[in-house]
Amino acid sequence: MIGVIADASEYDVVREFFELFKTPWEFYQSDRQYEVLLVAGNDLVYGTAKLVLFYSGRMLPFDEEQKIPTDPEENESCILSYEGNRIPIYGDTVRFKETGNVILTDEKTHESAAYLDRSRKGAVARIGYDLFGEVRMLLTAGQPSANATIPALELHIAILRDLITGCGVPLIEVPPVPDGYPFIACLTHDVDNPSIGQHKWDHTMFGFLYRAVFCSLSNYIRKQIGFRDLLTNWMAALKLPFVHLGLAKDFWRDFDDCYLELEKGLRSTFFVIPFQNNPGRNSLGQAPAFRAARYGAADILETIQKLSVAGYEVGLHGIDAWLDAARARAELEEIRHLTGVSDIGVRMHWLYYDQRSPETLEKSGAVYDSTIGYNETVGYRAGTMQAYKPLAATRLLELPMHVMDTALFYPAYLGLSAQRARTLLGGMVDLAVRFGGCFTINWHDRSLAPERLWYACYRDLIQELKNRGAWFSTAGQAISWFRKRRSVVFERNSADPAAVCAKVTAHHGHSLPGLRLRIYNAPESSEFSVRCSEKYVEVAFNSHVDNRVACEANR
Ligand SMILES: [Zn+2]
Repeated sequence: MIGVIADASEYDVVREFFELFKTPWEFYQSDRQYEVLLVAGNDLVYGTAKLVLFYSGRMLPFDEEQKIPTDPEENESCILSYEGNRIPIYGDTVRFKETGNVILTDEKTHESAAYLDRSRKGAVARIGYDLFGEVRMLLTAGQPSANATIPALELHIAILRDLITGCGVPLIEVPPVPDGYPFIACLTHDVDNPSIGQHKWDHTMFGFLYRAVFCSLSNYIRKQIGFRDLLTNWMAALKLPFVHLGLAKDFWRDFDDCYLELEKGLRSTFFVIPFQNNPGRNSLGQAPAFRAARYGAADILETIQKLSVAGYEVGLHGIDAWLDAARARAELEEIRHLTGVSDIGVRMHWLYYDQRSPETLEKSGAVYDSTIGYNETVGYRAGTMQAYKPLAATRLLELPMHVMDTALFYPAYLGLSAQRARTLLGGMVDLAVRFGGCFTINWHDRSLAPERLWYACYRDLIQELKNRGAWFSTAGQAISWFRKRRSVVFERNSADPAAVCAKVTAHHGHSLPGLRLRIYNAPESSEFSVRCSEKYVEVAFNSHVDNRVACEANR
């Protein structure tokens, strides 16, 4: 059990952090004994725990008492090194000039930013940044795109876990990993342009022609695409007048069949726009006119029905839902009406969002959001692959989005070749295997058709995810799984105060994979030797098999 000492103003972020690092903890009570004390305030604590951790980016009374000269850095941000990983720190940091066991170093200056002192009876770690301030920053503003590729929140969890287990303290955890799979893969599709026939003499049509004719040629010359793709795009450009006259097939129209074919046996989520010809609002007033979609969800009712029957999810691709609760209710109601499903999730068109959006969406009845990501790059805006509860929300969960096809390939963004995109995505799959969580991908409706033809890269990504054993879920299923994990509570066993029990407290249906209980530094005699790795033993558990899993930690 971890006892946490933090300022009352940080309680919300402490609670959310320990939903993501799902391990027994409580706010410190002076009459209790803890194996680990995590001190994040300015309090000077003389705990008798096996490990005491002081997290702060400012000098502490503890530092003065230890007479360790420190060097406060009020930098904008810096990067720390941890066992080959880079961790950006956005708040204040402290450097330690005289140290024992160095844990973190500044990437530039090589100064120590954290150390572990095991010379005394209980170990003491001093980490020179404000853990909960960092987590708050990640879950609210998010990371700048320069650090997009770093799963910072997962690394903060990893450091804390490593410190505890490295000191030989038993630790139990429910990792963000479904039983039977190393991670979750969530395939999603924003439906922006389900028909090129609807685009006559507008921004989208001219964009299509420019890219199909000129960009394709330039990409062919630079060997980024083959001759067959060049020919396909030129033919599509020639065909366009005939599509407009109704004499040729609309090559953006059958996106549903293309995805159903590619994702055979899997499930994905389509976010559809509720109303046509409405650009909506941005923070300054009216959004640019070309944000308006040429279709409304009712125009593709047949497609929505086909997807629903096939077990796919249809969510809201919102226009004004992010800033106006009344508009959000109307947009959600349109999707509910057309799908006959009451629980609707949201991703905002053009990823419009602000700090008040979680409250607005929650008030209007959305069950989750999946907007937090980048338009211009790929990666981890919130520093995590886990679904989390935004600090302003009480029930709404956020399923962060990590990869958008347009960010990979558009020259104004990353402008990658298919080969470089595959390498980048492969690295992200590696991180999903390492940390668990849900790797969320957005491939647009028209991206398999001319002029994009981003078919092969998507097909290969799905194959890679299959090869690595992912559980393919819709966004809604992933959210349900995370809710199940969040419902786990740890209880002290009344018969044996040294033992802790974990139980699932909410029912989430039988179709979801189970959970895992991971035990580090388990005693030799532990009954949980079901699956062993070098570092931990693991047991699967589920709500409807046995609600109560006793676990023998803390001995
Ligand atoms: Zn969109």
